[in-house]
Amino acid sequence: PVDRLPEIQEARLKLPVLAEEQVIMEAVRENPCVVLCGETGSGKTTQVPQFLYEAGYASGIIGVTEPRRVAAVSMSHRVAKEMNLPTQVVSYQIRYEGNVTSDTKIKFMTDGVLLKEIQTDFLLQKYSVIIIDEAHERSVYTDILIGLLSRIVPLRNKKGLPMKLLVMSATLRVEDFTENRKLFPSPPPAIKVDARQFPVTIHFNKRTPLEDYTGEAFHKTCKIHRMLPPGGILVFLTGQAEVHSVCRRLRKAFPFRKGNTTAGECNTHTLTHRHSLPRIDLDNYSALPVDEGDEDRQAGIGEEEEDEGSDLDLGDDPGDTEEKADPSIPLYVLPLYSLLAPEQQAKVFRPPPPGTRLCVVATNVAETSLTIPGIKYVVDCGRVKKRYYDRVTGVSSFKVSWTSQASANQRAGRAGRTEPGHCYRLYSSAVFGDFSQFSEAEITRRPVEDLVLQMKDLNIDKVVNFPFPTSPCAEALVAAEQLLISLGALKEPPHTGRVKDLERAKLSSPITPLGRAMASFPVAPRYAKMLALGKQQDCLPYVIAVVAAMTVREIFEELDRPAGSEDESSKLAQRRARLTQMRRLWAGQGASLLLGDLMVMLGAVGACEFAGCTPKFCEENGLRYKAMVEIRRLRGQLTNAVNAVCPEVGVFVDPKMTPPTESQVVCLRQIVLAGLGDHLARRVQEEEILDPKWKNGYKTPLLDEPVFIHPTSALFKTLPQFVVYQEVMETTKMYMRGVSAVDAEWVP
Ligand code: ADP
Ligand code: MG
Repeated sequence: PVDRLPEIQEARLKLPVLAEEQVIMEAVRENPCVVLCGETGSGKTTQVPQFLYEAGYASGIIGVTEPRRVAAVSMSHRVAKEMNLPTQVVSYQIRYEGNVTSDTKIKFMTDGVLLKEIQTDFLLQKYSVIIIDEAHERSVYTDILIGLLSRIVPLRNKKGLPMKLLVMSATLRVEDFTENRKLFPSPPPAIKVDARQFPVTIHFNKRTPLEDYTGEAFHKTCKIHRMLPPGGILVFLTGQAEVHSVCRRLRKAFPFRKGNTTAGECNTHTLTHRHSLPRIDLDNYSALPVDEGDEDRQAGIGEEEEDEGSDLDLGDDPGDTEEKADPSIPLYVLPLYSLLAPEQQAKVFRPPPPGTRLCVVATNVAETSLTIPGIKYVVDCGRVKKRYYDRVTGVSSFKVSWTSQASANQRAGRAGRTEPGHCYRLYSSAVFGDFSQFSEAEITRRPVEDLVLQMKDLNIDKVVNFPFPTSPCAEALVAAEQLLISLGALKEPPHTGRVKDLERAKLSSPITPLGRAMASFPVAPRYAKMLALGKQQDCLPYVIAVVAAMTVREIFEELDRPAGSEDESSKLAQRRARLTQMRRLWAGQGASLLLGDLMVMLGAVGACEFAGCTPKFCEENGLRYKAMVEIRRLRGQLTNAVNAVCPEVGVFVDPKMTPPTESQVVCLRQIVLAGLGDHLARRVQEEEILDPKWKNGYKTPLLDEPVFIHPTSALFKTLPQFVVYQEVMETTKMYMRGVSAVDAEWVP
């Protein structure tokens, strides 16, 4: 029996999902797998685990997976509170932390955590139910988990250890799960929860700002606040920096009186530093969501209208003027994004201070993962930040692009939860018409060598036959398998005459012992290979530091940004000079110079750790504090992983790591080559140059165009004959990043 507080009980009863409790539980009783669809905010995440608990499914653990860490942590707290149970019983586990105990009955976790657990116990015997939440996001790990569970659940039932699977989605577009015979030979029932949705009027901009959409978002929010009736405002932007900048401007424009609630708010940025979680981990190679939506949502949203003349039409805004501060109408401004500290996130659920209007400035975590109460106005910039992969080079970067129509409609829907609302789209209806209808499942958009390795480690040899909800493309699977063979993680299948590439992939190369070791390291296979080789010449601590730095990426501050004022511009110049000087110092001398940019990373990590990894040290030396904290955590984690694989090396994180010796540097360079062998580049010789654009260029097997060493690289002046690189980034030219020199005699 659950002993809930009266006010909690009252709030629960209003949730649409409560009305369906009987139907849901009956379906669960009668079917091994059930799909549950319900609009964001209908109560799926918070209530369904409670239904199961009360219906007696807590003989084992009720596991709930979330694609985002934010949701795992925040939902576990919420459910514990609703059930009036301690966090020892309703707990969470994300890669770097958790509060799971032997008493845990409901466990929220990221999907990556559950995938790891399948590696140690394929039948997931401690669980009685698994709920895959936010399945509509179609994150890679969610997709793979559903594929695996479609096999695990029948196995468990055969063994007389029954287990239930629930797949929950905020959209109705679930055919990829229900109609996929490879996945579920007999289709699971799909239950739809009818959520009350009030009409949302869509207001399009006439003009679409191509650059300053944050400025536009700011002005639109100001207008709403000054001119429109009470009701919360939710602003969708693409990233943390944008969120903070708009928060700052809004707080300036509509400040609180001294001594009231805002005082504590201004420090969110510094506060988050302390609690910040690493951006990259195995939970989530792609920390950013895939937006997926539902075609039926559009109908529920109400009429769309061009922004012409009505009272609620606010017109387009010039994005260049600051608002005059107006303390008479205070706005309660809160940021919301994935890496925000949980106690800061929790604020969005509380009512704003009396006499103020709530304004949440969010990334698309607010699209479906978290429901913010009382939102009447949505301001949508129409963009999303996504990891983008180049098909040719596999190089990835974060790019801001237009979101999908489905996703934009999800955002608009946030305005109609409690009463009719309004959505202000900062783009024209013509631009909206050009959006893709849905976003693709993440698995079809990225290289899959890490997944293939994880799956092989699960003894799924024929990856092509795996019941993916949506399969990655055949070329991606072949490329992954080939890379893994070249790294020695997979054994090349025996050649029987000439076999076509695709058939070869189908031949299913088995995993090697090296591959198993690599699979246990939570980094990309190329880097895992380096770790596996790192034992030699006591190089492991260095390899771990370099791999951590390469995995976290972007460890140096971006100092090429435009300066706001003359004063700032001279400060920036000073900092650039300082960073150049430090880079030179960290690159070392003599032999170590040849390790190039990786030596610079190693030096930076070593120096920062030596100084205690303080914000001050980072600030003074041009390092990104957040990145350095992530590197520190990852170093710890990789050190444990390496010790688990070969306990005899007994490696530890030395805060006073001395620079590598000359022979260690040579060894390190060879280890790096072993991992990045497919990223080899050869300098184009003078006599080969037919086109001036090839001057100082490098030739790579993958690209037709020359690639270059960046002026900030440690090897810019040296221009070695052969180099390996971490990645190629296209800016003004195709630049290699993370460059390290290779001796000619090492080249195969
Ligand atoms: P769904 O998973 O269907 O999107 P949820 O179960 O997440 O819905 O949310 C149900 C309700 O619980 C929403 O109205 C939401 O605002 C509320 N809620 C969720 N988390 C909290 C919290 N930490 N504090 C207060 N209310 C919350
Ligand atoms: Mg939910």
